[in-house]
Amino acid sequence: MQKSLTTTLVFQLKPNEEEERLLNKGQLEARRVVNEIYRLDKEGYDWNEIEQIVQTRSSHVKNTTQRLFDKALDDLGRYYDEDEYGHPRQEYQEEYPIRMNYQEGYNLEISGDDVEYRVSALKYKHVRGTLHGSPQHLERLKTAIQSDDWRVGTAEVVNKCDKYELHVNVTHKTAEVADKRDSTTFIGVDVNEDCVGLAAVTESGVEDSLVIEYPEVKKQRHEFFTIRKRMQEVGQSSLERELQGREKQFVHDQLHQVSRRVVDWAEQFENPVIVFEDLKDMRDDIEYGTRMNRRLHSLPFAQLQEFVSYKASWNGIPTDKVNPEYTSQECPNCGHTSQSNRRGKRFKCVACDWQDHSDRKAGVLISARGLEEQDRNVPALNNLPVVRTRKVRRRGNGECEPPDRNPFLTIGRNQGQIGSFRY
Ligand SMILES: [Zn+2]
Repeated sequence: MQKSLTTTLVFQLKPNEEEERLLNKGQLEARRVVNEIYRLDKEGYDWNEIEQIVQTRSSHVKNTTQRLFDKALDDLGRYYDEDEYGHPRQEYQEEYPIRMNYQEGYNLEISGDDVEYRVSALKYKHVRGTLHGSPQHLERLKTAIQSDDWRVGTAEVVNKCDKYELHVNVTHKTAEVADKRDSTTFIGVDVNEDCVGLAAVTESGVEDSLVIEYPEVKKQRHEFFTIRKRMQEVGQSSLERELQGREKQFVHDQLHQVSRRVVDWAEQFENPVIVFEDLKDMRDDIEYGTRMNRRLHSLPFAQLQEFVSYKASWNGIPTDKVNPEYTSQECPNCGHTSQSNRRGKRFKCVACDWQDHSDRKAGVLISARGLEEQDRNVPALNNLPVVRTRKVRRRGNGECEPPDRNPFLTIGRNQGQIGSFRY
């Protein structure tokens, strides 16, 4: 099965002083454009009017202004869908990435072993030079420029730790992902506020399981929430927005680490398919009670599924979704389903006394539903391995990662603590 996959390649621009000044001007203009969009939206202009106004006033080339407009609209869209905390007005930002179309706002050219760039920092103001980056990223970029199977997309000039970077989106148009019907190992993923429960189940039994914990995400979100509330009361809104940005970055970074681990773990099994609970089904059904509601409203849920799917696809692993009904309440031993089977992290069946770690058990049931859905044999689920847990830790300094780090493909693999619980 072929799938189109996009990744971001990161390069350093290493501009001289004069070029740096230009790039900085371009980023400040990008910020002005985006802030103007937010302001006009707040004043009640409709989006077509806003587009015309900012196009007329912008010192960026037309298609760059267009890309900035699209991006701001995405933010506004999320705000109106009520996934965000407040109306975006990010005056606190020093500069904003210049977002450009390939062969319009920026261009790339292979020259010997190097790739030369040209960026329009502003209308008629170009910055040129050679891209610096890891050999892998440079190779991939050259492939993307030359091969018909790849497409070079938008790029952003980003200022990170006082260095100018070019983040280039490239798309592999025909990446191979295995057909989920050929899968033999079903990896159930149970996502929670503070951990994911994983189980690998084949037609002959439960192969292995793992719980990956990320207690910091939950803790941080609660802390930020409290601080934010307090600040809202005293009206310190720009600091509040800054915190919001920091929280997002932290959660984002942790979820990337977690999803990398999920995919690494899945990869060791024969013909894996990663099975999630179907979010849509959950939203349709309001009878799930507080646990499900809490999970739905806790940010990691959808994002983690998305990150895992994305990374899985790059590794050729398919994903599937199953009905989430009662995965937390059903007993894998006798089938008895009751809310009182679950007490926090512990599952104990009120009918047969069978016990397990509740999130690992949910993972097992999700795997089993994956098998069921494909009319496979579902093995006995009452003989489970010891629960292993791993913890995802905070990185030393999240903000200044090495420039070559690809946010999607080369996530740091810090080994977490390994412990085991017996139930
Ligand atoms: Zn039972």
